[in-house]
Parts: sequence; structure tokens; C-alpha cells
Amino acid sequence: MLTVLSALKLALEYFEKKGISSSRANAEILLANTLNCKRLDLYLKFDQPLKEIEVEIFRQYIARRGKYEPVQYIVGNTEFYGLILEVNPSVLIPRPETEILVETILNEVNAADAPMILDIGCGSGNISIALAKNIPNAEIFSVDISEAAIEVAQNNARKNNAQNINFIIGNIVSNDLLNEYFFDVIVSNPPYVGIDDYNSLHTEITSYEPVFAVTDNEDGLKFYRKISEIAAERLKKCGKLFFEIGFGQSSNVHKIMFDQGFEEIKIVKDYQRINRVIYGIKK
Ligand code: GLN
Repeated sequence: MLTVLSALKLALEYFEKKGISSSRANAEILLANTLNCKRLDLYLKFDQPLKEIEVEIFRQYIARRGKYEPVQYIVGNTEFYGLILEVNPSVLIPRPETEILVETILNEVNAADAPMILDIGCGSGNISIALAKNIPNAEIFSVDISEAAIEVAQNNARKNNAQNINFIIGNIVSNDLLNEYFFDVIVSNPPYVGIDDYNSLHTEITSYEPVFAVTDNEDGLKFYRKISEIAAERLKKCGKLFFEIGFGQSSNVHKIMFDQGFEEIKIVKDYQRINRVIYGIKK
């Protein structure tokens, strides 16, 4: 008979053998999901025996994680900026660093002004929904080229009761999308991994997350160039452009934004002291 505690121990040993990061947290998330309870509640039921069906579900979860499938795709959700968001393999899994992008925008925007916000490449809708919940009178436009991603984002907006978002499927980089609007804020966390670096990323990312959400198939800067150009035209006077950036990209992106006429360009570091967010004003 397998108890909660012994199931956790077995999973932990297996994950450690496989070199899975955060093995304990992963084992707990998967078991809590199997038992339909909160992670912390597991500690109250260490001696509880698992039913046969629960053992089977947990076994399948463990096997999937053992093949490096991200735990968020296995359970079908993740947490971002205090919100629970549905995720599946058609969207990038929202990262904790991206919360710094949201935080920076919230610090820089005057909520009372009912800002018009454009989120380019919205994926699961994480950035848009976090902004929508915190700036209720903003009007947000969230664009993604992937129809499947927009579907996930719309579900997430509905589940989180975010009503001030317009979702649009399309390629704003090469088409004249939304060209009747001017924005106070444009934000993007674009695919910024260069093709050379992409090939050395962990299989957790390359085998499971959508490739077009991670790499631009070029030097990693393609979307910063294109989006800065679009933003220079489509921001209102004194509108602001915000990007998430990857390791080592800050001086290149700074130059791209400067060349497009952005001023007062500032950089924010993440918890590992890596330059992670860059933003500037279009005067
Ligand atoms: N905006 C989403 C996020 O920040 C998706 C980004 C992307 O797919 N590159 O997670």
C-alpha cells in the first residue's frame, strides 16, 4: 500500500536520479494535482493511502516529468502575478521574471489615465491579464499570431474575470493591424533566444514549448528591431515601450530603442541581477 509520504519519496528519488530541477516541489505539485488538493494539504495526510486510480494517475505524471515535460503542462496551469493561468503546449509557460515586466509597467503607468495598452505576442495572456486586473480602466489589445494561443489567453481572461482586453489573432510585425489606434503603452516579451543559443537550451524547453515563442531563428534581436520601429509610430506622445530582454541583450536593445528615438531608456534587473526589463519614452 502506497501512502502519500511514500509516494512522494518514490517520486523524489526518481526525479533526483533523472536530474530534474526542483524535484521536491515537482513531486508535491503532481501529487497534489492527483489528489485534487492543495500542495500544503499533503503535509496533513502523509499516512493516507492512495487509491488504485490515484496511484495510476500519479505514476503517469511521474513518467511524463521523467521525460522532462514541464510540470505546468502536465497539470495544465501555472501561477503568474498571483493569478492561476491555464497553459498547454501551444503557449510559452509564463516565467517569474516576466512578473518584473508587469511590475515595472504598473509603477510607470498612471492608472487614472485609462491607458491604451498593446501587448505584442500575448501567448497565454499573462501580461495582459495581470495588467488588466491591476489597471481596471485600461483598454488592452492583445495580439498573437497563434490562434491556439489566443484561445488559451481568452479562456484565462474569462476565468480571471478580466473584461478590458481585446484579443486579436494576427501578425502585427508584418501587417497593418490595429492601425487606427495609438497607444500609451506597448509591451512585448518577444521570442528573444538567438538560433545558436536555442540549440543548447534544455530539452524541457526545446521538446515541449512552442519554438516560435522562444527563438526568432536569427540573432535574438529581430523582434526588438521590428517592434521598436512599430512602437515609434504607434505610441502617443510620451507613450512608453517596455520589453523583457535576455541575458546579455541590454546594450544592443538600448541602441535599437535609441536609434528609433526613444528617450530616458532605463533597465531593471531580475532577482539574479540580470538586466531583464528595458523601457523608454517616445517624446
Ligand atoms: N507574453 C507571453 C509571456 O510573456 C508569451 C511570450 C512569448 O510567447 N514569447 O510569457
